[in-house]
Amino acid sequence: MTVDALAGAAYIVAALLFILSLAGLSRHESARSGVIYGISGMVIALLSTLALTIADAWGGSGSTIGLVMLVVAVIVGGAIGLWRARVVQMTGMPELIALLHSFVGLAAVLVGWNGYLAHETIAPELVGIHNAEVFIGIFIGGVTFTGSIVAYLKLSAKMSSKPLMLPGKNALNIGALVAFLALTVWFVADQQLWLLIAVTLLSFALGWHLVASIGGGDMPVVVSMLNSYSGWAAAAAGFLLNNDLLIVTGALVGSSGAYLSYIMCKAMNRSFLSVIAGGFGIVASGSADEDYGEHREITADAAADMLSGAQSVIITPGYGMAVAKAQYPVADLVAKLRERGVDVRFGIHPVAGRLPGHMNVLLAEAKVPYDIVLSMEEINDDFAKTSVVLVIGANDTVNPAAAEDPGSPIAGMPVLRVWEAENVIVFKRSMAAGYAGVQNPLFFRDNAQMLFGDAKERVEDIIRAL
Ligand code: NDP
Repeated sequence: MTVDALAGAAYIVAALLFILSLAGLSRHESARSGVIYGISGMVIALLSTLALTIADAWGGSGSTIGLVMLVVAVIVGGAIGLWRARVVQMTGMPELIALLHSFVGLAAVLVGWNGYLAHETIAPELVGIHNAEVFIGIFIGGVTFTGSIVAYLKLSAKMSSKPLMLPGKNALNIGALVAFLALTVWFVADQQLWLLIAVTLLSFALGWHLVASIGGGDMPVVVSMLNSYSGWAAAAAGFLLNNDLLIVTGALVGSSGAYLSYIMCKAMNRSFLSVIAGGFGIVASGSADEDYGEHREITADAAADMLSGAQSVIITPGYGMAVAKAQYPVADLVAKLRERGVDVRFGIHPVAGRLPGHMNVLLAEAKVPYDIVLSMEEINDDFAKTSVVLVIGANDTVNPAAAEDPGSPIAGMPVLRVWEAENVIVFKRSMAAGYAGVQNPLFFRDNAQMLFGDAKERVEDIIRAL
């Protein structure tokens, strides 16, 4: 059997392992095996590619330089990846992922350019298809590249999370798409270098504009949308490189990312099509400057008293729990309260934190039992019958303005209805707004009290007082 045939078979095995990995990752219980399938698939894919390059260098048309470059790239890239993954804080994960998507986009652009500058002889009847692949690959890659860089800048607070509101932004986006289609037809008919430069610049500008136009509250959908785009960019590169595994893997990432975007759009009450069309930043008057009156404060001791007398408690964690690394004392607090017969559960908003599933990962890390961690739909009707809600570092996801103020930038986004409970204790450091930059009227409600300070320290204070 030739190395080519063996590598082809190995690619099929790797593709199957990637599918098993996605299936595994969809449930808490099977997530660990999902990760192992994914790693195994990637090891098989890398070894097969290495074997192909070695065979090519020693007996085929390839060169030893290609082999050396591949080995050096894998060693350097692998070392940087390993180092970043080890040092990254859980709170820095979203921006790291956005940055990684930008690499996929850039790789697709480079593969596209390579497909134009240095391709093997192509049968005349396939030249048109090849050129279309080059053009489309560069376009998708370019949009993913700059879009992901803007997402990285916004998520790491190096750029304002407010939407960029250029006049006629929808017309700009549609104009860019029409220009892309026209340029593609032109390029297929006549492969001029300037057309390739034009589409590269156009895709960079469109990617930047699409993501810059989106407001903070809508970033979760953007991150999963860019994840999907990076998959399609990889698939486009797969067509150009004639690599089946890259096509399959790209399609898997592209379609699962698109489906995740769809689920998140539903969770946030946004239209999927308008997200795909891009730039759905909301034009709203906002209610940030409204005077909601005075807020009340509570001490950790008083909070401990309230919790000891409670029958039922729901904890709604958010991004602040991740920043404070409060999940461990929160898990201890839950165990203590449950020992005393208090019914404690968690309510998880689908976009709490900065990553889909962010809170579930943190709570699993702290060994909180899965069966008391409920989704927003499962728990939302129970707040009205709950004695105490602990809002730990959450803000936008518990903001009543989303449900009650049609002028709010987050209007229509389903939120955890914590304000229906008898008492609400909000853990945060100040009265600052959440990620969407919107003031939260919950903090001024009669049944709400603020427990200021770092969430980890305050939860530890409560445990001591208990
Ligand atoms: P928010 O980002 O709205 O609010 C977090 C709150 O935590 C802040 O108000 C902050 O207040 C508080 N906080 C920060 N550090 C600490 C600390 N050390 N101790 C105590 N409190 C702290 O959180 P949510 O989780 O409610 O909402 C998530 C937001 O992020 C949504 O707008 C969502 O759309 C967006 N988003 C979500 C993504 C996802 O996939 N999940 C991806 C990208 C964006 P203070 O500074 O006063 O302490």
